[in-house]
Amino acid sequence: NQALADVDPEIAAVLEGELDRQRDTLEMIASENFVPRAVLQAQGSVLTNKYAEGYPGKRYYGGCEQVDIAETLAIARAKELFGAEHANVQPHSGATANAAVLHALINAGDKIMGLSLAHGGHLTHGMKINFSGKLYEVAAYEVDPETFRVDMDRVREKALAERPDVIIGGWSAYPRHLDFEAFRSIADEVGAKLWVDMAHFAGLVAAGLHPSPVPHSDVVSSTVHKTLGGPRSGFILSREELAKKIDSAVFPGQQGGPLMHVIAAKAVSFKIAAGEEFRARQQRTVDGARIIADRLSAPDVAGAGVSVLTGGTDVHLVLVDLRASALDGQQAEDLLHDAGITVNRNAVPFDPRPPRVTSGLRIGTPALATRGFGDAEFTEVADIIATALVAGQGADLEQLRGRVAKLAGDFPLYPGLQQ
Ligand code: PLP
Repeated sequence: NQALADVDPEIAAVLEGELDRQRDTLEMIASENFVPRAVLQAQGSVLTNKYAEGYPGKRYYGGCEQVDIAETLAIARAKELFGAEHANVQPHSGATANAAVLHALINAGDKIMGLSLAHGGHLTHGMKINFSGKLYEVAAYEVDPETFRVDMDRVREKALAERPDVIIGGWSAYPRHLDFEAFRSIADEVGAKLWVDMAHFAGLVAAGLHPSPVPHSDVVSSTVHKTLGGPRSGFILSREELAKKIDSAVFPGQQGGPLMHVIAAKAVSFKIAAGEEFRARQQRTVDGARIIADRLSAPDVAGAGVSVLTGGTDVHLVLVDLRASALDGQQAEDLLHDAGITVNRNAVPFDPRPPRVTSGLRIGTPALATRGFGDAEFTEVADIIATALVAGQGADLEQLRGRVAKLAGDFPLYPGLQQ
């Protein structure tokens, strides 16, 4: 019964150091969030001890009466939240959820068509050395070179030429809504299944602030830990007729024992996501991203060769185009890091620089909205970022760090929590 600090002081120090880092800096990685205390509690619980291969009521292990309740609640809440006919809440992560989706829908050698990784797609949508690129034939659509948006006429042309078995809607770095109805009609026209990966925008969908892919798709996959703000993990929604295929693709097709502590934490997150406070938070998330996009479109920023891809955002993130800036993506990421703001560099479509350097930044607002930020705070953050990017290597870091510290101090993270 020894405490972590006694058993393993080195790891205890990592936890403490990370809590301090999260408290003292501004987290703006678009795929990150802060889970509520209730989720930390469920996830760090004795449920981690339980083996429960199978599904509620149909397990291959005894003693599953409690975890059956947790998983049944998680399933019911996920279905209710997104209006889905079927939910599988067992995927350990977004990537394993996606592997299971393809396993359920098609056979090795069949063709998939998603947004190119270089244009904002995800590794699991057909990247060459990912399982998706190795097991399946891959075709990819790209954004329009003028507007940087997904143009559904181009998607249709590509689909007619390539005749994929699965069309994938969804992205890791794209600032606009997708037209799910158009995706559905293209999929029907070419006889493909439609799979939407809503990992990034699931929280916005749950809050009714983003069109839902669920009514239009055969399958929808997601993570729980981005805008949705729950534990690091995945889930899959589908039509009833695909339920058996999805379930058997996850277990035994993909995974062994489910992580019951994480599934319990998913149930908690889905419950929270159905509430009014969550909806208000998603609204602040989207409003904050717009405030940042507006500030980064101002003349002083444009004068420094920095612009916003597509000229704005509909979602929780902003893509910054640095192709005409003195800073590359790596330098801009490092500069903001030194000012106390964590973002990630990100390739822009048609990026002339290599993926390790890039000419862009992806800046997201979910974690700060969870921290309590509203319009006033996002206006200040936006100005800190703009000031840093305009000044470049000559930025007054001490002054910027002071502004960051003030915001972080005004919105304490996990007050009272000790690791
Ligand atoms: N799908 C999309 C669209 C993503 O952006 C991500 C993660 O970045 C994933 C899937 C994979 O999720 P995970 O990191 O949990 O495997």
